[in-house]
Amino acid sequence: MIPNDAPLRLILDGAALVANWRWASATAAAPAGAAVKADGYGLGAHEVSRRLAAAGCRDFFVATWAEADALGALPFGAGLSVLHGVREEDMAAALASTARPVLNTPTMVARWKAEAPGRPCDVMVDTGMNRLGLSLADAMSGLLDGLEIDVLMSHLACADEVDHPLNERQRASFAELSAAVPARRYSLANSAGACLGPDYGFGLIRPGLVLYGGIPHPAAAGHVAQVAGIEAQILQIRDLLAGDTVGYGATFTAVAPARVAILNLGYADGYLRAFAGHGVAWAGERACPLVGRVSMDLTAVDIGTADVGEGDWLTVDYALDRAAQATGLSQYELLTGLGSRYQRLWND
Ligand SMILES: *Cc1c(COP(=O)(O)O)cnc(C)c1O
Repeated sequence: MIPNDAPLRLILDGAALVANWRWASATAAAPAGAAVKADGYGLGAHEVSRRLAAAGCRDFFVATWAEADALGALPFGAGLSVLHGVREEDMAAALASTARPVLNTPTMVARWKAEAPGRPCDVMVDTGMNRLGLSLADAMSGLLDGLEIDVLMSHLACADEVDHPLNERQRASFAELSAAVPARRYSLANSAGACLGPDYGFGLIRPGLVLYGGIPHPAAAGHVAQVAGIEAQILQIRDLLAGDTVGYGATFTAVAPARVAILNLGYADGYLRAFAGHGVAWAGERACPLVGRVSMDLTAVDIGTADVGEGDWLTVDYALDRAAQATGLSQYELLTGLGSRYQRLWND
């Protein structure tokens, strides 16, 4: 149970989440599911899926059976797919669950046919990423005959790269596959794939990042709203003299008298040391640059003459595309690293 007096919080915008989901669907001209693996990319899979299901989302994707179990029953009869499929160790959980496995290997196909005959499943086919999935040859060999396939899917490797030739190659392979293998539905695109437009829609898309305010592709810039904002409480304010240093390694030296606020936020909260030299917190309209290194649980910012005191809250800049550029971290890493110490506060 997260105490509601936690000294740091994520402010989460449910309307933005739903608007981003609708934008992805409209852009690909296809119904949109939602990837909610890794606890909804760090924002909280339960609250995310509840809001998206209420908006009409009927297909959710997690990585593992433990995640499926943690999510529990979804409202409105929405379906849940487990992307990593069924290992032998997963079969008991899979048989007890209403979620569908995404079968990735010939062994998984054989296992599902033998141990869950007639039960619906999804299937992943590899069209060029060489991550999970059956080969095209296996998928078209008759191996899948007799399965009740709901979603036949593949995954794009380079959809975030404008005009990468692999996108069209994968799309063409998937079109060929979908003509050859019967399934109830077909799905190719993640967030960046949805940005490639209706040719990549195939009847169902599986966005993750874009739902949570990430910009997966230049086409999304200006259309996607930020969903998560960080607010951290000031634990202490200190006055520095010229020559004073701040933090581990004494990497910051005040050149003139300064005021710094020590915020309850650190790399254990996903605010990694890569923000040193780049991070900014806001005291109202005033930008307060991060000074020194980020500690495990604490960060110092220069508040200048801002009218704030101990116990006040600062908004920490966490615009995903900007933060990714500044730190070299991916937008995915920025979201999924957020950790468990935030109070997650939805604004609706
Ligand atoms: C994670 C994942 C997605 C969502 O990807 P985003 O890039 O976050 O949109 C879709 N499909 C599969 C198979 C995934 O693993």
